[in-house]
Amino acid sequence: MNKIAILAGDGIGPEIVAEAQKVLHCLQQAFGLSAEFEHAPVGGAGFDAAGHPLPGPTLALARQADAILLGSVGGPQWEQLERDLRPEQGLLGLRAELELFSNLRPAILYPQLADASTLKPGIVSGLDIMIVRELTGGIYFGKPRGIRTRDDGQREGFNTLVYSESEIERIGRSAFEIARKRSRRLCSVDKANVLECSELWREVISALGRDEYPDVELSHMYVDNAAMQLVREPKQFDVMVTTNMFGDILSDAAAMLTGSIGMLPSASLDSRGKGMYEPIHGSAPDIAGQGIANPLATILSVAMMLRYSLDLPELATRVEQAVGKVLDSGLRTPDIASPGMQTVGSAAMGDAVISALQAT
Ligand code: NAD
Repeated sequence: MNKIAILAGDGIGPEIVAEAQKVLHCLQQAFGLSAEFEHAPVGGAGFDAAGHPLPGPTLALARQADAILLGSVGGPQWEQLERDLRPEQGLLGLRAELELFSNLRPAILYPQLADASTLKPGIVSGLDIMIVRELTGGIYFGKPRGIRTRDDGQREGFNTLVYSESEIERIGRSAFEIARKRSRRLCSVDKANVLECSELWREVISALGRDEYPDVELSHMYVDNAAMQLVREPKQFDVMVTTNMFGDILSDAAAMLTGSIGMLPSASLDSRGKGMYEPIHGSAPDIAGQGIANPLATILSVAMMLRYSLDLPELATRVEQAVGKVLDSGLRTPDIASPGMQTVGSAAMGDAVISALQAT
């Protein structure tokens, strides 16, 4: 029996997670998914319930669970809190405590939504790439860091970009494994022509490919070129692996290629494949409580959970295909509707996915 922690969070979080949970229940009833669910507060909801964005019992549940489904955290009512108590600390705390170092950010553009992209449909329609971003190391965490005053009286800011061989190896391994589950092509992105840290990155990734994953076609690309190629010809990529900061930037650029923030899931994994699954979007306070949020990114996060933590790739594909069918049928929440299209709310969208699932 798989134990799944459900952390709905704030804003639209509870609304979209409710729809994803309907999908999980349908998988239980109709497709033999063996799972139990337990809910806990996180983010602003955690602060309101227990005075902390990551209450002790929530962290304990997350530790015990085989996988975590998270909605979103944050909202204006918590912005004045001191930094350590703000909602995003709930997320950062979970990533750090559970050592979720491998962040999977797919950029998928369903052909039915090709008009949503700012790029020409021919360039992006059918796009399906996976960016694997190192999440717990690199320049965002390296020490020393700070702002200091030099002898000449000028202040200077400084950070440290550092990756150990073992950190590079474990994110590399994670990416090679994912490439094996897809088209066996991996592009490693670095800046090895300028940074020593990248030089080591390239050396370690190359050795891993040669020694352990000779069946995966490995290529290397400098990050500036990768940014250019993502916009020029994004479909040339399948799986990309890169550092924390490069991945932060490239994965947002790739997400925007699809033009629909309400459609994109993500996963953060540890070295044993346990993971936290969440939509890439935030808590959308501007539409919270209206029942119009797009639940598909969260439902697609469930599909990722089935594939990467629960080892149920067939069920994952079923969920993804059900989403495709719903889009084929013309159903749209307001965020993905073209002008003149009729729109539905979150619950109707969730119900439609379930009907499509049951019809498979
Ligand atoms: P956001 O992603 O919440 O919203 C950006 C825009 O996209 C808004 O107009 C919103 O209505 C729309 N949107 C987002 N998700 C949608 C969905 N599922 N369906 C329809 N429309 C959707 O980003 P923001 O406005 O910059 O941030 C709002 C809050 O969310 C902030 O408190 C921020 O800190 C937090 N945040 C949380 C996460 C997370 O939980 N992982 C990520 C980003 C931002």
